[in-house]
Amino acid sequence: MSSVNPDAPAPQKDIPKDDDADISQFLEEEEAEATIQAKDLGFMFRFLLPYLRPYWKHLALVGVLLTIQTIFNASFPLATQYLIDQGLIERDWNALVMVLIFLSTAAIVVSVVAIGNDYIYSRVFSNVVKDIRISLFEQLQKLPMPFFQRTPSGNILSRFSGDIVASETMLVQFIPSMIVPMLEVIYATALMFYFNIWLGLIGLLVFPMILAGPSIFSRMAFALSYDKRSREADILTAAQENVQAQPVVKAFGLRKRSLANFRDLNVSWTGYAFRVYFFSSLAASSAYMGVYIIHIVIIILGAYWAFNGEMSIGTLVAFESMFVSMGYALTDLTQFVPTLAQATGSMQHLNEVFEEKPSLTDAPDAIVLQPMQQKVAFENVSFAYDGGNVVLNAVNLDVAKGSYVAVVGRSGSGKSTILSLLMRFYDPTSGRVAIDGVDIRSVTQDSLHAQIGIVFQESFLFNASILDNIRMGKQDATIEEVEAALRTAEIWETVAALPDGVGTMVGERGGKLSGGQRQRVAIARALVRNPAILVLDEATSALDAIAEAALNITLQRIARERTVINVTHRLSNVTNADMIVVIDAGNIVETGTHGELLARNGRYAHLWRTQQSDGTGSIDV
Ligand code: ADP
Ligand code: MG
Repeated sequence: MSSVNPDAPAPQKDIPKDDDADISQFLEEEEAEATIQAKDLGFMFRFLLPYLRPYWKHLALVGVLLTIQTIFNASFPLATQYLIDQGLIERDWNALVMVLIFLSTAAIVVSVVAIGNDYIYSRVFSNVVKDIRISLFEQLQKLPMPFFQRTPSGNILSRFSGDIVASETMLVQFIPSMIVPMLEVIYATALMFYFNIWLGLIGLLVFPMILAGPSIFSRMAFALSYDKRSREADILTAAQENVQAQPVVKAFGLRKRSLANFRDLNVSWTGYAFRVYFFSSLAASSAYMGVYIIHIVIIILGAYWAFNGEMSIGTLVAFESMFVSMGYALTDLTQFVPTLAQATGSMQHLNEVFEEKPSLTDAPDAIVLQPMQQKVAFENVSFAYDGGNVVLNAVNLDVAKGSYVAVVGRSGSGKSTILSLLMRFYDPTSGRVAIDGVDIRSVTQDSLHAQIGIVFQESFLFNASILDNIRMGKQDATIEEVEAALRTAEIWETVAALPDGVGTMVGERGGKLSGGQRQRVAIARALVRNPAILVLDEATSALDAIAEAALNITLQRIARERTVINVTHRLSNVTNADMIVVIDAGNIVETGTHGELLARNGRYAHLWRTQQSDGTGSIDV
């Protein structure tokens, strides 16, 4: 539980790394709000263009409907002027009737057109948001492993939540809060000058009046809202920590203490929140005040001129209504600016993902890898992650078809890296990985991956049924194939005994299954592909001793009839392998069977004795 000091800067050091990124992202958004420039708008337009293009017909129709709406709207004040001056003051019955008929028709037309417009753009923009979300997801599928290793997951997820929502908010409001008010300001300004040049000039004063107040007050609100968001991040962290730590909170009687902590954080937040709200509303009301003041000036002058007969009453009334709607349209526009700025910031954030270079792609002349007949070979393979230290040093390794090869070594010695190179998550810095003499860089990734079934330490089951999880291994697997895979993984009986059988939902990350069951399902998922090579990366390391022993017996049976590469830091798991490869700091130091290696009395034998004496079966204890 972190201690509380309301004046301290955001206590980010207490937060685990992933959340750290979440929160700084959370704070960054605020900075994006303060300003917006023409180049940002240009960027936004370029970003959105590919998503808008498919709907160009709909958008063109929106444009036509908006034009109709604007023409009618602009004709209202002219009609009003005519109604008063000709119809009422001149008592011209025909003019009166004509104007009234026109106004009622126009009202109906404008309403229908407006509803139609709302319908079309709501549909278009909800589709645009959907398309952006899908293409973001699609792009993620193409990105290489290094991207996921260097980008915290919270940071990626925030693009789906924060950034897409900010863009969505902007898009749905774009027409009603930006385009419509903008058209209104344009035609209203033109009409004001048409009605009376002097009043028009005075009316123009509303621009600086409306812009001044909000720009001062919203700057103050923005500055404070950064602090407000920091407190919110603290509150979020405290709540999250508390929810996760409930067992500790309950067991140690920390309820009061947690509550006091949480209350303090919130009191600190209130101080900032209150000022942010107050300055934000001052920003809005100062804009309205600007409209209000100019409005009074216009009424005074207009009334004076109308009284002296220098201006018709109709003109005064029409001008006045024109001015009011222009003032409010302008206010709406200023209030849309933060939404717009936030959206452009978010789109830039989204764009970072789109600009990432996609994964190691298939060579243009990539061939389809034929089913393995002889062997997998690492030939002089050296590798370093992203210009870092050498992780694999001239590794030579042959895995013959049908053999059971174990790769053992301390954690950090480079075992998983060997598998990553086989899967082509990365390419070697030098040397090559070949299957039957074919460099895996020259084959399609799909045909490579089709030959490999892999089981990780963490099984990554999806929140779906057992059946669906197995079918992640082979989409069109028949129920018989699924059953066979589950039988080979020796979990068929257990699954069949469940009330829903293979239809049983496994829960988030397979949480409703035991650790051993999860790994067996993961093994079945790998086996259902009927892979040429079964690869296991610490597949049993996370299990308790009994489940681990049971699963190892299963794996030994499976290994008898296929090519298996089993990577582990626990020697006791692999004593019966055809070949044990001992790797240390990226170098293969010994190879041989368990018996040969013991007889050699080298590194392996030493490690074996250590593990036997401490009883953990693990090298690095
Ligand atoms: P093992 O599986 O044997 O425990 P790894 O192959 O995962 O070891 O790691 C070998 C070395 O490479 C370690 O020193 C590790 O710190 C480093 N390493 C692993 N993954 C990465 C990565 N994505 N970026 C940089 N270094 C890495
Ligand atoms: Mg590893």
